[in-house]
Amino acid sequence: MARVALVTGGMGGLGEAVCIKLAALGYRVVTTYSPGNTKAPEWLASMKNLGYDFHAFPCDVADYDSAQQCVATVEKEIGAVDVLVNNAGITRDMTFKKMDKPNWDAVMRTNLDSVFNMTKPVCDGMVERGWGRIINISSVNGQKGAFGQTNYSAAKAGMHGFTKALALEVARKAVTVNTISPGYIGTKMVMAIPKEVLDSKIIPQIPMARLGKPEEVAGLVAYLASDEAAFVTGANIAINGGQHMY
Ligand code: NDP
Repeated sequence: MARVALVTGGMGGLGEAVCIKLAALGYRVVTTYSPGNTKAPEWLASMKNLGYDFHAFPCDVADYDSAQQCVATVEKEIGAVDVLVNNAGITRDMTFKKMDKPNWDAVMRTNLDSVFNMTKPVCDGMVERGWGRIINISSVNGQKGAFGQTNYSAAKAGMHGFTKALALEVARKAVTVNTISPGYIGTKMVMAIPKEVLDSKIIPQIPMARLGKPEEVAGLVAYLASDEAAFVTGANIAINGGQHMY
């Protein structure tokens, strides 16, 4: 039976590429979407037209109960989750001077609490079955910090702390936990940055002088999900065109 991969935020720029890559490799791919996302049926239909038969369930990853309920439904209707890709995320950029508590909380809850909320209901099963992959999508800005992103940089750095600690706890059971830290990838999130800012401030920071492609990140997710990556755990793998080396 094909392995089940659950990708949070799979209808977003990066998530969609991850879903497509994993489906092409034969995984049964399940994605989540925000309960308020009315475009989910449209997305599923467009993917079906391309030949991808994805399963999708509503889930607010920032909400513990919603995440537990979503995973219970996935396990009942599709099967136990073998690969979890914690990909859903948001930005609410502003300088620390302007940062208010709601925008701090929203980013922490959606980017960091979500990792706990989604991993909690799948991890024990992976350990019991003796195989599992947890892949957390962080950001270069969690590694190096970014102006106007105290909330996002803190949440994304926190994801990797989680990765390292959990990797230690589950390593003996052949469950791996890794972080991917993409640089600027040409998705909706990055395209929302004004073009003049992209051209004058962001592209010049990237030695490859271009944005990354969602498919490039999806390829790395596919590797970490594979049997070949069995010895890779607790890692934080950068994919940023040379923007930040450490
Ligand atoms: P998008 O905005 O295109 O996608 C984000 C996804 O997250 C959407 O599918 C959205 O679902 C989902 N999401 C947001 N909030 C919630 C929530 N509360 N519950 C459930 N789902 C939610 O962003 P990207 O594809 O660009 O980014 C994906 C990940 O990659 C993020 O974690 C981001 O931080 C990270 N990243 C992106 C980079 C980039 O350059 N694009 C660089 C570095 C990291 P819905 O539409 O249904 O609300």
